[in-house]
Amino acid sequence: MALEAKNLTIKIQGSTILHDVDVTFTPKKRTAIIGPNGAGKSTLLKALSFVNPKYDGEVLLDGENIRAIGRKKISQRIAILPQSPQAPPDVTVGQLVDFGRFPYRSFIRASDPKADREAVEWAIERTHLVEYRDRHVMSLSGGERQRAWIAMALAQEPEILLLDEPTTYLDIGHQLEVMNIVEEINRDYEMTVIMVLHDINHALQYADELVVIKNHGVFAQGTPKDILSVELLAQVFGVRADIFKNSQGVSVLSPVSLVR
Ligand code: ADP
Ligand code: MG
Repeated sequence: MALEAKNLTIKIQGSTILHDVDVTFTPKKRTAIIGPNGAGKSTLLKALSFVNPKYDGEVLLDGENIRAIGRKKISQRIAILPQSPQAPPDVTVGQLVDFGRFPYRSFIRASDPKADREAVEWAIERTHLVEYRDRHVMSLSGGERQRAWIAMALAQEPEILLLDEPTTYLDIGHQLEVMNIVEEINRDYEMTVIMVLHDINHALQYADELVVIKNHGVFAQGTPKDILSVELLAQVFGVRADIFKNSQGVSVLSPVSLVR
């Protein structure tokens, strides 16, 4: 299930945020989108998921223009966890995850309670939230809350999961817990994952492919092995960084100084 953008241009209040972006996300893989703050990463995810339909150009899902698919049908295939999701007060984990079933409900078509229940159950289990089902979302720790949002997205049973900085504000242990859940879901169900990641080291460890956004467009795309370099980091982030291999053989980088 390929998701792609063609000639995607997005202007917000007269300023161009993304210009003529062409990008294809490889099905069944984990792709990390990286780039400086304000580069347009969240803007890109919102267009890809049709949360923001105000763009020029096309977003295609398996070659079909998503404008022709319809919002509910899109939501059965693409789920997005936004950067700062807000839960209504007094909502429990179970209720929040159940909201993820909205694309399968409508006034004219009765929902399938068994399918809904099973999907919610599955999502809660995969995110290790079984004991938290009746807790209010507001009462959860940052890591637990983020897992609840991921569970809601999973309950949509999408083919493609979009995550916008899913580990921001979490401590390193909870960051890895979230990344491991994402990795397991991708591996076990071949769900395509497209995630904006703040931490480049997470991108290197958990992504099969990188899309680098800079100057309103795609600056580079490819496997970490193919595109990661000291020069790229200097050009994109203005940072001089050392790159070395960790004990797992994964490239990691350590920022050393600003490029002057
Ligand atoms: P990133 O996620 O890469 O940090 P964003 O996609 O959130 O960047 O934003 C890209 C640019 O678009 C920023 O300059 C931001 O200020 C601007 N922008 C995004 N959304 C809006 C909006 N609703 N109104 C005005 N400017 C916006
Ligand atoms: Mg963002």
